[in-house]
Amino acid sequence: MRTTAAVLEGPGTDFAFVEVDLDEPRGHEVLVRIVATGLCHTDLTVPTMLPPEMFPKVLGHEGTGVVEAVGPEVRGIEVGDHVVLSFTSCGACGPCGEGAVGYCEQSMVLNYLGLRLDGSTTMSRDGAPVFGSFFGQSSLARHALADERNCVVVDRDLDLGLLAPFGCGFQTGAGTVLNIIDPQPGDSLVVFGAGAVGLAAVAAAVGVGTDTVVAVDPQASRREVAAAYGATTIDPTEEGAAPVEERVRDATGGGAAYAIDTTALPGVVLQAQHALRPRGVLIALGLGAAEYTIDAVDLLQSGKVVRSSIEGEADPRSMIPELVRMRAAGRFDVDHLVTTYPFERIADAIADVEAGRVVKPVLTW
Ligand SMILES: [Zn+2]
Ligand SMILES: [Zn+2]
Repeated sequence: MRTTAAVLEGPGTDFAFVEVDLDEPRGHEVLVRIVATGLCHTDLTVPTMLPPEMFPKVLGHEGTGVVEAVGPEVRGIEVGDHVVLSFTSCGACGPCGEGAVGYCEQSMVLNYLGLRLDGSTTMSRDGAPVFGSFFGQSSLARHALADERNCVVVDRDLDLGLLAPFGCGFQTGAGTVLNIIDPQPGDSLVVFGAGAVGLAAVAAAVGVGTDTVVAVDPQASRREVAAAYGATTIDPTEEGAAPVEERVRDATGGGAAYAIDTTALPGVVLQAQHALRPRGVLIALGLGAAEYTIDAVDLLQSGKVVRSSIEGEADPRSMIPELVRMRAAGRFDVDHLVTTYPFERIADAIADVEAGRVVKPVLTW
């Protein structure tokens, strides 16, 4: 079939809406008419990391929509279902067998390179390949070919615009809190970077009753959003103030039990390590830096843990329904983080999120 997609012709080019050919759904594939797609930082970072031969490319990995057709082997998803799309996985490797689908051995091929496991592409133009299947969807388009493994069916009365970020950004922040930290009474959490991922972590931490939550961000607008959740906020650029790590230690009574870094800035990751209490855990989530510096003496003497996680260590098929239930119960208050734009205003949406005017832009058709 023909559909319209936001195609990147090469690294560093702008999104251009053009017609592409999209395959009919094979095997376990699901054809989705896209209603909304969130823009995630990865959509802006990945094009700069891919070689020129991986273009033309269609990004978009926070799609929601309505199922229009299913492949012959799809079970449990029907035409007309409303779905949230997330990252995909092979379902057959060791990590998938352990339920750690974010660490699927085929993740690079399936989520980033834009290929099916047989090497084919789902999209083409004049017979030449277009690299779609980004995070198993490429939802910066009117239609996406997803897989039954990354389609999560949701109630039809829910707002698909508000649910789009549940597929990546919100799942990553909230999943890190719920799946890795699992806050206990008395625990404290500091989040570095109050963008969509960081604020979703704050929202989830507050939702499960974390005693002390601190958010560090240079942008006043984002600190205000974090403060509205009840977080203590720190402006790392405040002139004449004590070092950030010292202010975090003051706000948490001697250091945070947990720190989440969403910035991928090496200097900030080091601050986050120093902001921990002895035996504290730092989870570095950002994508961008090639290397981090860790204070080895502090690491050893204080028994600290520095680790990472992808997509909040979540399996979307259980995590997204859980977050939807928490949202309905008022314990995952994230609707106000979303700003919607018509698809053709993609450039405005990117400019607004980069300037900190909005937290999570979502494009709607
Ligand atoms: Zn796998
Ligand atoms: Zn993402």
